[in-house]
Amino acid sequence: MITQEQCREWDNEDPLAKFKDEFVLPSGVIYLDGNSLGAKPKTALAKAEQVISKEWGIDLVNSWNKADWWGLATRLGDKIARLMGANPNETVVSDSTSINLFKVLAAAIKQQAEVAPDHKAIIVERDVFPTDIYIVQGFIDYIDQGYELVLLEDPNDLEKVLTDNKVAVTVLSHVNYRNGYLYDMEQCNQLIHKHGSLIIWDLCHSIGAVPMDLNKTNSDFAIGCTYKYLNGGPGSPAFAWVNQKHLNKFSQPLSGWWSHKQPFAMADSYEPAEGIRRFLCGTQSIVSMSLIECGLDIFLATTMEEVRKKSLKLTDLFMDLVAQECGEFGLELITPKDHHFRGSHVSFEHKEGYAIIQALIARGVIGDYREPEVLRFGITPLYLSYEDIWTAVQELKQVMQNEEWKNEKFQVRAAVT
Ligand SMILES: *Cc1c(COP(=O)(O)O)cnc(C)c1O
Repeated sequence: MITQEQCREWDNEDPLAKFKDEFVLPSGVIYLDGNSLGAKPKTALAKAEQVISKEWGIDLVNSWNKADWWGLATRLGDKIARLMGANPNETVVSDSTSINLFKVLAAAIKQQAEVAPDHKAIIVERDVFPTDIYIVQGFIDYIDQGYELVLLEDPNDLEKVLTDNKVAVTVLSHVNYRNGYLYDMEQCNQLIHKHGSLIIWDLCHSIGAVPMDLNKTNSDFAIGCTYKYLNGGPGSPAFAWVNQKHLNKFSQPLSGWWSHKQPFAMADSYEPAEGIRRFLCGTQSIVSMSLIECGLDIFLATTMEEVRKKSLKLTDLFMDLVAQECGEFGLELITPKDHHFRGSHVSFEHKEGYAIIQALIARGVIGDYREPEVLRFGITPLYLSYEDIWTAVQELKQVMQNEEWKNEKFQVRAAVT
């Protein structure tokens, strides 16, 4: 039997408890949606003020040098690198995850076309956040070279799909956005390479949520967003990572001037820059990109191992409390209980999932809903306490016990669920 007192004790002993103060959240809100849009770091407003009033307002165009706007994409990339086992000069921040997927996919396919021209399959999971499927489909249609999309139905089928097809590139989402399943990166990479494929990791739901080592596990390419667990702000630019061994080999098709070897020479033909800047395209949204640093600096004051330890304790607690307090309400856990395969969010299925989430939000507990019938709760160790989890589950119990979700107003679908 877990009690509120026990949760408070865990909070008192929690080495990460102090980080809650680094974020701003409205009072009375327990925010379990940091895997969709991370909370606002306290320093974000002052940073925005500095960029808008001083760098833009006073220093104007000089800020490209003076405030190093030009170097921001790689400077922030190097900070993200420290969270994912990457070296400096391998990561760049720019564009969106969808666009970066197109770029790395094109780079990987071009490389494979030279060394394994008969490999024409591109694996994507059926259950991935769908933009990945759409981008691969769009790419295949566009280049029109006989590539074929192969949908992976289940993580356990990976070996079979790699055996049955000649695979050029495999795209996997490190943590599944719906059920929180976490792939074993090292094992997957070995398997994928054994079958002559390259790997692209989509880290959107794992960066800032689970530790990883892209280099040690011999990954090829990775992409991910900064507005989820990294707290970069709504629509903040994404990142792309390329293994050193591919760095100067690859080319990507969005060959804009920011990726030119001499961008200010204003040459009349394209020559790619050496290194990761080759991955850029054109001028970036500097105001939004600048804010990413606020969240990253909080992460860099601790370690991903500490974050992971607390994440597992909090997700365990959430699962155990729902079983203890809400056992009779038919919420079916779909997130792996095995730590080895669990990311940092917890999901349940219930046929009234949408209305239950709306009723919970009305009580100040913000989770989200994903089709079909999935209630999803993001667990962010830097700004959630053990007692927050206790309170959230008590509110869920009230919603279920009183059948508050039956209220008509909770059944109406909003444009953005
Ligand atoms: C959130 C998410 C994206 C987002 O892509 P955008 O280009 O930022 O809209 C992509 N892939 C996965 C797996 C995601 O979870």
